[in-house]
Amino acid sequence: MLVLRSRLEICFSFFTKLKDPVLKEQNSDICYRIKCECELMYIRNTRQYFKERFDQHLNGDSEHSALSEHIIQTGHKVEWEDADVICTVRGDCKRFFTEMIHIRKSKDCLNKITDWQHLGHSYDNLLVPLT
Ligand SMILES: [Zn+2]
Repeated sequence: MLVLRSRLEICFSFFTKLKDPVLKEQNSDICYRIKCECELMYIRNTRQYFKERFDQHLNGDSEHSALSEHIIQTGHKVEWEDADVICTVRGDCKRFFTEMIHIRKSKDCLNKITDWQHLGHSYDNLLVPLT
């Protein structure tokens, strides 16, 4: 009887430690990807909540990102459903480095060269575009 009780306690404590999943819009400290209707991707990082940053792109952000310029120039539309979190990265330097790697690895990216130009060329052979 004592053994059974212990197993139930272990089982109960295991399941009570499960966390609720974080909603996409509630993610922060992330690298994210937004897919345009023309299939081009925009990859960036932010410390902000994802939805807040996404809305800034749509409303003409202050930094004139490649995405907001693309939307203005082409009239293309991007949808929240076509935006996703690539990964969560704590720390500004790590997050910017991770962003540059994802941009360089991706085909069909509309990011500006200034978004990834500081990534050393020693990584070139390792970052073959994904097919
Ligand atoms: Zn487009």
